[in-house]
Amino acid sequence: MGKVALITGATRGIGKQIAIKLAKEGYDIAINYRRENEELANAKAEIEKNNVKCLTVQGDVSNFEDTKRFVDEVINEFGAIDVLVNNAGITKDMLILRMQKEDFESVIKVNLTGTFNVTKNVVPYMMKKRCGRIINISSVVGISGNAGQTNYSASKAGIIGFTKSLAKEVASRNILVNAVAPGFIETDMTSVLKDDVKAEIAKNIPLKRMGTAEDVANVVKFLASEDSSYITGQVINVDGGMLM
Ligand code: NAD
Repeated sequence: MGKVALITGATRGIGKQIAIKLAKEGYDIAINYRRENEELANAKAEIEKNNVKCLTVQGDVSNFEDTKRFVDEVINEFGAIDVLVNNAGITKDMLILRMQKEDFESVIKVNLTGTFNVTKNVVPYMMKKRCGRIINISSVVGISGNAGQTNYSASKAGIIGFTKSLAKEVASRNILVNAVAPGFIETDMTSVLKDDVKAEIAKNIPLKRMGTAEDVANVVKFLASEDSSYITGQVINVDGGMLM
């Protein structure tokens, strides 16, 4: 049986590129999505072009019961999960004076609790197999902080602490847990920024451009591969040198 990767929030953006990249490596893919739409069908079709299976599993990562159900669906279909990529995430940017309690809580619930929910349901299967890779998508703002993103930065910093603690817990079972911290990546999440804001951001990046979803997917591919078998508990920035 081939290897299996589960990627959350993978109908578009970074998650979709990760799914395609791992499909090219021969993984059977399970993509999690929240709502059925055209993006989902497109992502599935692009993944299947690589002659691998693609299972789509519905569920909100912030809902523990949903994650339990969709992880079971993946196990029932494929028998294992070798690689888990916790990618699903949201932003609700606002200065703290305007930020409502709900804006804070919902971002933490999707980004951080969502990462816990899926991981908690996947780890027992990896433990039984005595191997696995967990790759959590954090952000450079989880390290540097960013005005207007107290909720998002806290969730992404939380993911880093979660990653390091879990890496220590499960290393003896040969489960490797790492985080990837993207900088500014061109996706729908950042398309809300005005062009002049984007240009200003790019000016301050040593490599003078925003990143692509593929830049992030390349690092995830490495962390999923045998080439990274002595790396755990690390955070790898993919940010064009923005944060050093
Ligand atoms: P995106 O908005 O294009 O994609 C996010 C995906 O997550 C979507 O498919 C969405 O449907 C899904 N999602 C959201 N809430 C969900 C939920 N509750 N349950 C299941 N799925 C859910 O964003 P992106 O730019 O591709 O971001 C992907 C990840 O990378 C996120 O964790 C984001 O925080 C992180 N990131 C992005 C950037 C960037 O510049 N784009 C920078 C740093 C980190």
